[in-house]
Amino acid sequence: MAENKKVLVIGGGMSGLTAAVEVAEAGLEAHIVEKNPYLGGRVAQLNKYFWKLCPPNCGLEIQFKRIRNNALVKWYTLAEVQEIKGDEGNFDVTIKIQPRYVNDKCVGCDACAQACPSYRNNDFNFGMNQSKAAYLPHEQAFPFQYVIDATACQKDCQKPCLDACKYSAIDFAMKPETISLNVGAVILAAGWNPYDPAKLDILGSGGFKNVVTNMMLERMASADGPTAGKIIRPSDGKPVKNVAFVQCAGSRDENHLPYCSYICCLASLKHALYIREQYPDAKVTIYYIDIRTPGLYEPRFYWKVKEDPNVAFIKGKVAGVSEEPGGDVVVDVEDIYAGGKVKTKFDMVVLATGMEASSLAQGIGVPYSSDGLVDDTTLRKGFYAVGTMKSPADVARSVQDATAAAIKSIQSVKRR
Ligand SMILES: Cc1cc2nc3c(=O)[nH]c(=O)nc-3n(C[C@H](O)[C@H](O)[C@H](O)COP(=O)(O)OP(=O)(O)OC[C@H]3O[C@@H](n4cnc5c(N)ncnc54)[C@H](O)[C@@H]3O)c2cc1C
Ligand code: SF4
Ligand code: SF4
Repeated sequence: MAENKKVLVIGGGMSGLTAAVEVAEAGLEAHIVEKNPYLGGRVAQLNKYFWKLCPPNCGLEIQFKRIRNNALVKWYTLAEVQEIKGDEGNFDVTIKIQPRYVNDKCVGCDACAQACPSYRNNDFNFGMNQSKAAYLPHEQAFPFQYVIDATACQKDCQKPCLDACKYSAIDFAMKPETISLNVGAVILAAGWNPYDPAKLDILGSGGFKNVVTNMMLERMASADGPTAGKIIRPSDGKPVKNVAFVQCAGSRDENHLPYCSYICCLASLKHALYIREQYPDAKVTIYYIDIRTPGLYEPRFYWKVKEDPNVAFIKGKVAGVSEEPGGDVVVDVEDIYAGGKVKTKFDMVVLATGMEASSLAQGIGVPYSSDGLVDDTTLRKGFYAVGTMKSPADVARSVQDATAAAIKSIQSVKRR
């Protein structure tokens, strides 16, 4: 059989981008299939990286530059793989691409969004604000190209945005497309989703305005987020003075995610620093079972936060959370060291929700274990799972794993 020099990469987050550039820089074609209208994955939603607190966009920009400069990397956004048939060295792939309604002539001038009369919930900001139906997914989006969410358009309202666009970039005649590819190997880099807090028993009937998730806090702290970087109480926009973090929200629990989500202790330490930086008088309380800060994160990060007298660590299992009419949130906790149940009031509570592996279409044929993760050893030959699909991971580990998967996929292609 002739060597098939193409590798399919499912997911265009930090892992998928890394795998694709490594494959392409070794001389093989890499095809990234990404379901969002932009590349970069969850990292694009983060404000800063632990532990150095540098902006994640630097790392993403480097990867975008590498893929821009390498003609062997092809990418498809708003795309999902529906089916993969065949064997190592010869996989037939079916990809469905949803219409963007904006073509490559888009220069990102924002005129369509300004003219657009319709709104949609902004999923990039976890619904904390709205965007126009004609929108740029986020300020650093790659590709820097607008999208129209036709499901949010008012009936027969195409005229305002069509008239506003001076570049003939809007095309409502676009239709969903199905394309086929033949590849030699497949890299699964579809990443993770935040565990759904609505499933957590501690919230009771749930839906409290001033109980947010760790990823929502990342968006609030981001300058291009729903509150322009200000961490404020969602119900009334007040500055926060007293914030609690509930660790292991959904993780290490056989009724939810049976594993430790690895990054949520580190994320809460980072978030404590975000709050303390914005509000020098604010108090932060972290309720934990164990604080897990693997390897060098402990001396470089944990001890730094621990030194702050305004950050309290309380070992205790949170039994319940409730919201009072004025918006304050009461946390009910079993304090392990002090003993007994304690109820404490806060301005806002952050749930350190865990990471759940993304699911893939059944037609791809990827078995998931009972814990919801992908077990490499059960995959068919020529398939390689990366990073957070296999186990919760930080970016450094995801990138290392993606490089290893790139090498394995090259070997797969060469073997045939
Ligand atoms: C609150 C919080 C804070 C964090 N902060 C840090 C930090 O400071 N430093 C750090 O190192 N790590 C941090 N992390 C972890 C970091 O987000 C992950 O390590 C990183 O996102 C892993 O990248 P990835 O590409 O594997 O997955 P993702 O970022 O999830 O990317 C996967 C991509 O695949 C796409 N996709 C999903 N399903 C499909 C499909 N079916 N078809 C096509 N595409 C699909 C997604 O849209 C996405 O673009 C944090 C995590 C949390 C929860
Ligand atoms: S679609 Fe047209 S109006 Fe909208 S941002 Fe692009 S070029 Fe501007
Ligand atoms: S990293 Fe921390 S908060 Fe997250 S599951 Fe593990 S112990 Fe719990």
